[in-house]
Amino acid sequence: MQKSLKFKPSIKDLAIDALKIEREYSLDWWSHSSIFRYNALMVSSFYGMKWGNFRQFYNIPKNDFLFVADSGGYQVSTQKVAIEPTEVLNWMEANVDVGMTLDVPPLDMSLKVVGTFENFKLAARHSKRNYEIMYKNWNGKPELLKVIQGGTADRLDYWYNFTKELEFTGLAFSPKPVNEETLAITLAYANHVGDKKVHVFLGTSENISPITIYAKKFFDRLTFDSSTCTSSATRFRNYFLPYNLSKSITFGGQYKGKLKHLSCSCPVCKLATIDDFRIEKGSHATKTASLAGSLIALHNIYVYLQYYDFLIALSDDEEAYRTFLLSRGLNNTVKMLDFLDLAEQVGFYDAYNKVFGQVP
Ligand SMILES: [Zn+2]
Repeated sequence: MQKSLKFKPSIKDLAIDALKIEREYSLDWWSHSSIFRYNALMVSSFYGMKWGNFRQFYNIPKNDFLFVADSGGYQVSTQKVAIEPTEVLNWMEANVDVGMTLDVPPLDMSLKVVGTFENFKLAARHSKRNYEIMYKNWNGKPELLKVIQGGTADRLDYWYNFTKELEFTGLAFSPKPVNEETLAITLAYANHVGDKKVHVFLGTSENISPITIYAKKFFDRLTFDSSTCTSSATRFRNYFLPYNLSKSITFGGQYKGKLKHLSCSCPVCKLATIDDFRIEKGSHATKTASLAGSLIALHNIYVYLQYYDFLIALSDDEEAYRTFLLSRGLNNTVKMLDFLDLAEQVGFYDAYNKVFGQVP
């Protein structure tokens, strides 16, 4: 994403009827020249710290906007780089509205594989050291969410209790592997411990987002993020289908489909054409190749935002909400909504025992 933010496409870059556009567009969603506007952004501090004045550099609004920064713990773990907690904190102070504590994710815990409890405990110890340094140097600004790892009751309990005396503004959870169960468990746990400002990492897909949106009733502010919309677009040119977000069309040079028009009426697809999405890396200037990926990413973000708006409105009627999800075959999603409500009624541990078996 960072690459694509660097330039603004000119009118020549889009294969469109010139009469439709009389101005240039920027490939973001927060400036006056955006194709559409949205009021929140999350970046990883690991990338953001390359610009000391990131907020100013990218013209990110100061008012009516939520600029959130992940700590970069994931990059520390996967790219084997070192970041100092004070460095992250200083950068966050100067740039963001909400930051996260610098965690050290368990080494053998990828998005799909859950590692041993011993490694998990080691990661908690390393993370706590960072949290203590940040806590000592933190003056209350920006808001800081304490990252809690784990997707089962025993692991959540371990990490939470181990770092309990370090009270920040709220909590951020990182359920792994990401699925309906681990997401519902972490949200029920967050409700159980009573923090009111909560973030969940990577809570985005057609089947799991409805759980996050349903759980917003338990918190003052519940945020979540997605990298799917951008990464699948910039890497693979995957264009999510507006009426079935679990399916996508892969554009790019390899596209052999027969579509003549984009089957979407979002602001991006009203401007762009299939040709704009098919430019292959290397065949044109890098700038143009990146334009194709960025446009698809913006389309993906827009159709997901529409899905969220729809879910948020529908969730006021919990019966209609469940009926809709069941009609999409999202039975497990609905089961997890029931678990969230059960945990609210009988308490986290009793609900957990009933639905997932004994807490180890
Ligand atoms: Zn579109």
